[in-house]
Amino acid sequence: MAEPSDAARIGIGIDIGGTKVAAGVVDTDGEVGERLEVPTPSKSPQAVEDAIVELVGELRTRHDGVESVGIGAAGWVDSTQAVVRFSPHLAWREEPLKERLRQRIDLPLIVDNDANAAAWAEYRFGAGRGSSVLACITLGTGIGGGLVINGDLFRGAYGMAGEWGHMISVPGGHRCECGNRGCWEQYASGNALVREARELARTNSPMAYRLLEMLGDGPDAITGPGVTAAAVQGEPTAIELLADIGHWLGQGIANLAAALDPDLVVIGGGVSAAGDLLLLPTRQEFARTLTGRGFRTPARLELAHFRNDAGLIGAADLARHAVFDPPMADRGGFWPGRHRLRVKGRRRLRRRVGDAGEDD
Ligand SMILES: [Zn+2]
Repeated sequence: MAEPSDAARIGIGIDIGGTKVAAGVVDTDGEVGERLEVPTPSKSPQAVEDAIVELVGELRTRHDGVESVGIGAAGWVDSTQAVVRFSPHLAWREEPLKERLRQRIDLPLIVDNDANAAAWAEYRFGAGRGSSVLACITLGTGIGGGLVINGDLFRGAYGMAGEWGHMISVPGGHRCECGNRGCWEQYASGNALVREARELARTNSPMAYRLLEMLGDGPDAITGPGVTAAAVQGEPTAIELLADIGHWLGQGIANLAAALDPDLVVIGGGVSAAGDLLLLPTRQEFARTLTGRGFRTPARLELAHFRNDAGLIGAADLARHAVFDPPMADRGGFWPGRHRLRVKGRRRLRRRVGDAGEDD
């Protein structure tokens, strides 16, 4: 990874997921310098907050010139981008995350949904560059969604747009952590892949023998990355399980296309490591279920450019924009507190530029 080229404008991005908290120093080109990762400490909001503060502190001891911190959180962030109202996978309920962190971190700071941050990273630096209506789908513990329309992240009226992982795909289907049944993410996420693989393994079907042999100690030892690795090595049952995920994924994307008519859908997150083993069945099902097929230009479906770092890269870039270059500044209302941040940020930047001889 390249060292940040403009020391005056590096930021820290943090991605808080259901299983891990990743943090990195990110430059203006979206390049990640140092990167740290810890398991999501527990379901306690306080422990997650402590982990964030520690990661930021540790990175700042080794990197001068950090100007802003962007947090991508796996939760439903409200339209003021301050409160995580709810998280299906973490214990946040009306959590004033921004205010709590501001009391402990003396840098301009933004909080956004992790999938919004990931979509922004793909739009700015990855597979989504140049798209006019970009839908980004992150397949991890669940399904995250982000939408970039004509260069702006679309958050909805109250900050909740893009939560299409919880559209109901199968009425009365598997129970979801959100409380409903049959959500899309119960059929087309990393968790769905693991659930299906374990269920198959528990049947003692001969189909599962080889997969179990490859993955070790019984059904409970099966993981999503394990199934993906087995599929990449040609294990037929793992390939079939991924194709099933692709089937549900393609069908859901066809639904999204009916509502949004995107030109590009980018598929990222852990499960996308399966590459064509996921993408091809997804495209096939999408083409088969897209409404108006044959009479419209279908969206392109592509794999994400970033595998693990989209959330933190996007969060860092969103924070930098909030500080230095607020988008929609002339249209108003998009960045809460942007005027204050902007003035402060510019003043700092000028001071930094004055010292620019030290930059390498
Ligand atoms: Zn749900």
